[in-house]
Formats: sequence, structure tokens, C-alpha cells
Amino acid sequence: MGTAVPPVVLSSMPSSTLTVDRALTPTVAEIRLDHLRHNVRTLRRLASPADVMAVVKADAYGHGAARTVPVLAEEGITQFAVATVGEGAALREAGITGRILVLGAPLPGALQAYQHHALEVNVCSHAIADAVCQVASLEAPLQVQLKVDTGMSRLGLMPEDVPSVLAQLRAAAGVVVTGLWSHYATATATDDAFAAEQWTGFATVVRELPAPLPPLHIGHSGGLLMQDEAAAHFNDHPMVVRPGIALYGVPPSPTLADVADLRPAMRLVSRVTQVKTVPAGASVSYGRTWTAPHPTRLAIIGAGYADGYPRALSNTAGIGLHGTLYPVVGVVCMDMCMVNLGLPETAPAVEPGDTAVLFGDGGPSLSDVADWAGTIPYELCTRIGPRVPKVYI
Ligand SMILES: *Cc1c(COP(=O)(O)O)cnc(C)c1O
Repeated sequence: MGTAVPPVVLSSMPSSTLTVDRALTPTVAEIRLDHLRHNVRTLRRLASPADVMAVVKADAYGHGAARTVPVLAEEGITQFAVATVGEGAALREAGITGRILVLGAPLPGALQAYQHHALEVNVCSHAIADAVCQVASLEAPLQVQLKVDTGMSRLGLMPEDVPSVLAQLRAAAGVVVTGLWSHYATATATDDAFAAEQWTGFATVVRELPAPLPPLHIGHSGGLLMQDEAAAHFNDHPMVVRPGIALYGVPPSPTLADVADLRPAMRLVSRVTQVKTVPAGASVSYGRTWTAPHPTRLAIIGAGYADGYPRALSNTAGIGLHGTLYPVVGVVCMDMCMVNLGLPETAPAVEPGDTAVLFGDGGPSLSDVADWAGTIPYELCTRIGPRVPKVYI
């Protein structure tokens, strides 16, 4: 439970010369690029012979795409997935030359931007297939991946429409079909009957297609960690898998926590800004939701919901101080929260400036905090507040 803070650099800086002044910035998100490298190596081994498409939407799940995606590319990842055209364009601006699939559906009028930035289109409806055929040309081709809805009821063609749309796209000049894919509706994928149904639906569509088959993918982190044989191959045709959260070292569900050696890439830390003793009967924070039952030592922490530490953690979470968890008491404010250190006589020697671990090494796990907040780790790491600098280690 080391709390020493190694040298750090500002995320937005191209060179690694500027350090964040930790005396001026209570809350920072520390990103371990060595852990990211470890995770991508682990997942590529696990996926083989399937190839890995790294899901880096939402600024690489809050880890900073500009700094993390080049690391993934160095590790041999050649395919990426983002949610929007803007995210794809930003990767191109950062110098990423690999393939980039936009998972979202193109809005009417958006296809020129796909051509301009060489982004792959999610063809998930007849209307989008028609637009693609109209806009693509031999001079300005479009790479497209057909999405089939196997039970998520989000984006996608209905299974029976896939053969005709595939034929339409293959017949159009300047349209290159680079994939056929679907998405599981459950995080743990193949351990449940519904995921098995989705796989069967996908396989049924694929079996009816004329050769050559495009690259196929359906598995996310859950599918990959379940080591679903079906998701790795379709007969002799190797598949692609699309892990997101697992790349960042977080299991998609608690049941998959021990399947692979994944190391959390993000640690969210803040600092103690004041330590004080309040008398019995003192109420803590807005709305007076917690009252000290006896004289109580409190640590005031410089992080609140504006930093991405949800208000739902009020009177619920634990924060790591000197390697021990102490409870958050009272409601979490915009910029601060309060931690109960116990009776003044027995309270630990906590001082202003001490590191407070909101999640990560020396504190609770991201999954624990998500649980306490009634949400999932995905939401917490993608909602770290914009004033929190990312520091890369
Ligand atoms: C976000 C997303 C993924 C990655 O999911 P994880 O659970 O983070 O691995 C894969 N595919 C699609 C379509 C997604 O939207």
C-alpha cells in the first residue's frame, strides 16, 4: 500500500517535462501506463488467435486517449473503436494511423467526415446502407462494418436483413466491407443463456452468408474474459474481440475479477486539507445527515462531486488514508468531503497534505466505489471531473 507519489507529468503536454504542482491540485487521476501495457499484453494472449480491437471511446474510459492510445499502438494494436466521429478525428490528429471504427450510428450528412478522417462506418440500418452507397466512390471510398442486432435492441440490422444489405454494399463502387459484428447485452457474456442465444443468432446469420466472410466480432471484455471458444473462432475463421474496461484493468463484473491478472490503470487520489476535532452532537456537511455521537476527529478531503466523486457516496464510501479505509460522513460536497477518523484519542496521525486514496492502490477498488455509489465502474472512470489533471506514471 505505497502512498509515495512518483514523478508525474501533465496529460496535455506533448513532452514529459512539466510536473503538476501537487501543492496546488488536491485531486489527480494517476494513470499507470505500465499497467495498461501489462493488460493489453495479457488480453492479446488470452484472445489469440482472435485479434483485439481496443475500445477507446470516452477519452479511453477517462484515461486520456492522447496518451494511452499511442501506448496501445506501440503494443501492436492496429484496430480501435470510438463512439463518435469527433473521437475518431481526435485520434487521427494525435497521429494514430490504425483502423478506427465509430461504434455510434452516423447521423445524416456525416459520411464525408468519415471519408476525410478514414473512419469506418457502422452500417446498422437500410438508410445508412443507402447513404453509404451514394456517398462512397472509388476516389473517396468508405470502409464499413455491418452491425446486426442479436438481442441488445440498440443499433443494428435485424438478422434477416443482413444478406441483402451485405450484397448491396459489396456491389457498390468504393464500399469496402471490413466487418460484421454484434454486441452482447450482458457484461459477463457467455455465462448466461441470453448471451448464448445472441451467439447462436449471430452464427446463424454468418452461416447464411456467401464467402468470403468479412472479419467477425461480438465479444467485449466479458466475452473475452469468459474465454468463449465460440467468440474466438467461427469454424476456421478467426474473430476479433472488442475489450474496453478490461484494458484499463477493471473487471466488467465482479464474477470475472479473478479470471485474468489485470492491473488497474487509474488511481484517483486527493489530499487532506484540514484535520479537526468536533464535539459530540456536531452535525457534518450540508443537510446535517450525520451527527457525531462523541467527540470526533475529522479529515476534510479536497475532492467532491465536481471531481467525479459522486454525491451518492455520502455516508457510504470509504477513503484510504495511510493504507486504512475510513468512512465518509455527511454528504459529499461539490469540492470536498469529510472522513471520520474516530475518537480523538485513538485517531491516526493524519495531517493536511496527506494523500487520500479515493480508489486504487491504498484505498478501495474502483469496483467497490462504484458499488457504494449504486453504479458501475464504467460510469465512475468516464466521469472524472474536467478540473482533475491526469498524471502519467
Ligand atoms: C463499449 C463497448 C465495448 C466495450 O465494452 P467493455 O465492456 O468495456 O469491454 C464493446 N463493444 C461496443 C459496441 C461497445 O459499445
